[in-house]
Amino acid sequence: MSQQSEFNAAGQAYYLAQVDISESLLERVASWWRGLSPQRAAEGSSAVMREYQALVSQSRSRSYAEGVKYHNAAREAATSKPAPESVWDGRDLAAESGKAKASYYVHTAPLRKEIQRGRLDDPEFIKALDEAMQSAGRNLALDAGRLAESGGRDALAEARENDAEVIGWYRKTDADPCGFCAMIASRGAAYSDYMEPDQFHAGCHCQTLPLFRGVEMPAEDARKRDEYLVRWNATEGSGADQLRNFQREFNEERKQRREAAEQSVMADQ
Ligand SMILES: [Zn+2]
Repeated sequence: MSQQSEFNAAGQAYYLAQVDISESLLERVASWWRGLSPQRAAEGSSAVMREYQALVSQSRSRSYAEGVKYHNAAREAATSKPAPESVWDGRDLAAESGKAKASYYVHTAPLRKEIQRGRLDDPEFIKALDEAMQSAGRNLALDAGRLAESGGRDALAEARENDAEVIGWYRKTDADPCGFCAMIASRGAAYSDYMEPDQFHAGCHCQTLPLFRGVEMPAEDARKRDEYLVRWNATEGSGADQLRNFQREFNEERKQRREAAEQSVMADQ
């Protein structure tokens, strides 16, 4: 394999590993959640919290290890040497479990509110409570996926900062990105201040990937960059207005696409 194709393959493998890590965690959190009563879930005792933190932390470890593996594989393809150990700061486990705890409280807050509202012998209330339980579980699982993927993103951010061989970086978007990620991807390897490379929402599998001398952005990613840049240039306004317009139009089309896809699935059933 050529340097370039090894580099491309490493990026693709990393991307797919991260999607798998967050999707399999999503399933594990969902099945764990189904075993909790609304009372226990709303209360979030220290035992419940530890279980959630452990689920997130295991996946985040895997994600971080994939980040290190990918950075080394990409660097080796370009420069024929892996990075020295010293480019990685290592994980801050206390900070990570604090973030998981905050995520749990945020996503279970609507459930706590609901539980105080009614009585358990009222069928209407039970139905509403079930719905609040399901929606809290969905949001929590999605956010767990985001936290897990932060592992790999942290590893890459550390390497990007500390590895002198990194000459730039760019956003590789997932198949159906949001307007924010598409806007960042349209910049290619040029980042500016308002484009914080490490902002990712729940459900986003986009990645900020490094570039090295001797290799280029993979053709597939360069094509997307060009496509989004054409869109950007055709967007009305300038500065913050243009940014808002771009995201609004992009997200609106994405929503329509997703609704159309859902409807065609329902028509097939
Ligand atoms: Zn994204």
